[in-house]
Parts: sequence; structure tokens; C-alpha cells
Amino acid sequence: MSSCLFCRIASADIPAKVIYQDADLVAFEDINPQAPLHCLVIPRRHIGTLNDMTPEDATLVGTMHYRAAQIARERGYADGGFRTVINCNADAGQTVFHIHLHLLAGRRLGWPPG
Ligand code: IMP
Repeated sequence: MSSCLFCRIASADIPAKVIYQDADLVAFEDINPQAPLHCLVIPRRHIGTLNDMTPEDATLVGTMHYRAAQIARERGYADGGFRTVINCNADAGQTVFHIHLHLLAGRRLGWPPG
């Protein structure tokens, strides 16, 4: 059994509020939401950080962004605006080392992020 939290969510070994899944990706609600819509889009395949991406992963990571935009549209946030973020390593705030795209929407988001 994988020790990676998000691998275990992807395999449904640990429950999550899944809002989308297909053969390559899973999207689920963040357990500690920072906005009215805050979900995470992850690849089923384990990739620790963006530093671990190979050229073969580029389409997959692009598809994560496409899926996030689709979810934002389905939830009615496409026109008002939304944010996608991937934190890479500890100084950027990454705490789970399986890449995940945050999708945040539903409130005014400040810039720059903290
Ligand atoms: P990071 O700080 O960019 O690595 O983001 C990790 C995110 O995962 C945080 O927003 C956490 O709230 C979220 N998170 C941690 N554990 C779980 C869980 O079990 N289910 C859903 N989200 C989680």
C-alpha cells in the first residue's frame, strides 16, 4: 500500500469528496477550503513535485489545468474568475508531495499570495 496520501485518495483507499475522475485524474474538495470553491486536481500517477516532471508528463499537467477550468465553469465561476496554483517544495508551501493543482474561486483573491 502506498504511503502517499494523494495516491491513497486516488485509489479510493482514503475517502474524499470526489467531484471528477477519469483514467488519469481525480479532483476532490480540499479538506481545509480557503475559498467557497477549493478543490485539488491530481494525477493518478505519482509525481512528487513539479521538479519531478518529465517531458512525458507535460500533457497530463496541461490536462489538469483544462479540468480545473472545466470545473470552474461548471460551478459558475468562469466569468467572475478563479485561480489555479501548484506549490513546489516547502518554501512555496507544498505539504503533500504528490503534485496537485489547487482551484480556488468564489471570493476576491489577493495578490501577491503570502
Ligand atoms: P499544499 O500545501 O500545496 O501541498 O496543499 C495541500 C493541500 O491538501 C492543503 O490545501 C490541504 O488542506 C489539503 N489536504 C491535506 N489532506 C487532505 C485530505 O485528506 N483530503 C483533502 N485535502 C487534503
